[in-house]
Amino acid sequence: MSGSRDSLPEGLRPETLAIRTALPPSQYGENSEALFLTSGYVQPDSETSARRFAASEDFTYSRTSNPTVRSLEARLAAMEGTEGCIATSTGMGAILLLIMGVLKAGDHVICSRSVFGSTINLFAKEFGKFGVETTFVSQTDLDEWRAAVKPATRLLFAETPTNPLTEICDIRALADLAHAAGALLVVDNSFCSPALQQPASLGADLVMHSGTKYLDGQGRVMAGALCGPNSLIKDVFAPVIRTAGMTLSPFNAWVVLKGLETLGLRMKAHSENALAVARWLEARSEVARVYYPGLASHPQHELAMRQQLGGQGGAVVAFELHGQHGDTSPEAARAAAFHVIDSTRVLSVATNLGDTKSIITHPATTSHGRLSEAQRQAAGISQGLVRLAVGLEHVDDITDDLLRGLSTLNTLK
Ligand SMILES: *Cc1c(COP(=O)(O)O)cnc(C)c1O
Repeated sequence: MSGSRDSLPEGLRPETLAIRTALPPSQYGENSEALFLTSGYVQPDSETSARRFAASEDFTYSRTSNPTVRSLEARLAAMEGTEGCIATSTGMGAILLLIMGVLKAGDHVICSRSVFGSTINLFAKEFGKFGVETTFVSQTDLDEWRAAVKPATRLLFAETPTNPLTEICDIRALADLAHAAGALLVVDNSFCSPALQQPASLGADLVMHSGTKYLDGQGRVMAGALCGPNSLIKDVFAPVIRTAGMTLSPFNAWVVLKGLETLGLRMKAHSENALAVARWLEARSEVARVYYPGLASHPQHELAMRQQLGGQGGAVVAFELHGQHGDTSPEAARAAAFHVIDSTRVLSVATNLGDTKSIITHPATTSHGRLSEAQRQAAGISQGLVRLAVGLEHVDDITDDLLRGLSTLNTLK
């Protein structure tokens, strides 16, 4: 027989896996993966139905599994280099599933202080109520992580690079620390995506995604996922999602599935644009400081270039402005930041990221607006800080748009 087309040959490269990994096509032979927009499945007979329900095999009900969602899970697992993947309704839904699956009252978690704000609330506030204790530590100081380990420590949770200051943690070192403590390391890979960083290859036990960001990549749908070994994905998380229902909709799964086909190309273009914008900003006299892992001035530049595939820095750039006319007050710095943001005519003033459209944000009054000024200062989020999630427009149009405000800063009172 000529080679079977039922399964892909071994050893395909990541670009190919991102396009070809899926369930086999239906009897119609569609070339683009089908969207199975169905909640239920007709069973051939009662015996088969009983077996499928008992074993959670094949398809019975879309809270438990759906062919389009399965295709996405297979594709993302192949891209992250993990055995399995389970998709969820949102990124936060993935962390909720993680906590419900592996933690119980009395367990202890160590988490970077610089992770996504809702992640901090979910661990500390929502699961603090149920007796899960979380210690928050420095993103970059490994000694703080080590000192926080207790006999009850079950989980280390990290995100790299962070939002908005793009601080990098050493995934390999955290994995070694977690394993020595008998704990799991989970890495939120939403900022890099598997095109730029594969945490499992560096020792992470689970990789978490907000698929809402670069996996979709065009700001259309919400999605999330956990990737890891089947001993966790199939044996631990699948029974929980079947009961708890933070399931991904087939339509959203289909959008993200098709988004993954261009992920590598998009992340390369995002990184190239972001590096060019970061370099341009660093050369401007109005800009006090630029935060971007691809710049040699970044404190963890070497680690980032080692850890992130192809030495790509990702799409997020932050920069700091000072007040005009020697005014060093936070109010003057905020006025400068607001001026640059409000002078744009192309960039979107929004707080999302992971879109083809560039987004400009003032973290101190949006994503970090609920912190006290002292907490904000401890986190390095000054009033003059501006965050860019660099999109795929022509890079000169992005810098021209930033120039509108930067070149007129001296007109501020
Ligand atoms: C957006 C985001 C989340 C949450 O994902 P949702 O899909 O919005 O629920 C978690 N982590 C990071 C790093 C994010 O950027």
